[in-house]
Amino acid sequence: MMIDREARKLLFETVARRVIESAEELTDLDRAIGDGDHGANMRRGFEAVLASVDELSAKNLGESLKGVGTTLVMKVGGASGPLYGTLFMSLGKSLADDVTQEQIAEAFAAAIEAVKARGKSDVGQKTMLDVLFPVLGVLRESGAGLPLRLKATAREAAERTVPMRAIRGRASFLGDRSIGHMDPGARSSELIVDAVADVMEGFA
Ligand code: ADP
Ligand code: MG
Repeated sequence: MMIDREARKLLFETVARRVIESAEELTDLDRAIGDGDHGANMRRGFEAVLASVDELSAKNLGESLKGVGTTLVMKVGGASGPLYGTLFMSLGKSLADDVTQEQIAEAFAAAIEAVKARGKSDVGQKTMLDVLFPVLGVLRESGAGLPLRLKATAREAAERTVPMRAIRGRASFLGDRSIGHMDPGARSSELIVDAVADVMEGFA
């Protein structure tokens, strides 16, 4: 598929708007098991993406994804800023404008490895990785209905963080008291995947 300038702009805008409109929910989740700044952090980052969306999407897909990543590193802050920044910058390393699903899956796999290295974290620790990793599984499958499968997988994966005990990030300070709440970063990852899937469906 061809992800041209217009498609890049639509993608970045749709993702940014979804995160911004969900800031309060992300903050509430982070208030329960963190310090209550995840919504504000993410809103600040994606408002900066929106503000420079024309400039960002004018570059080819790889460079524009790197630009989004750099913006997030500079603006989001907290633990999530460098991690989401790493995710987008790593995605930008290998993708050309004309990409196959297989290439996207491989770029996403490398991006997840980069996040793990940056966060010294892994799947099963109640973080954004617990959504990103199952989403990679869907990207690696072929077949019809990819957007719907991405959405369902991301939603279920975020739900599965509720009974988990946090082992990384601020929530890990709570030990067993982190159990029973959805991880804020898992929810923001779900929102991002859901917004991308909306664009893919042509509904955005
Ligand atoms: P902070 O924890 O510094 O306040 P945020 O509230 O913006 O930063 O982000 C918290 C989210 O970041 C968590 O919900 C979790 O998903 C993610 N996170 C934190 N630390 C890590 C890590 N080491 N690896 C992966 N994800 C992490
Ligand atoms: Mg926080």
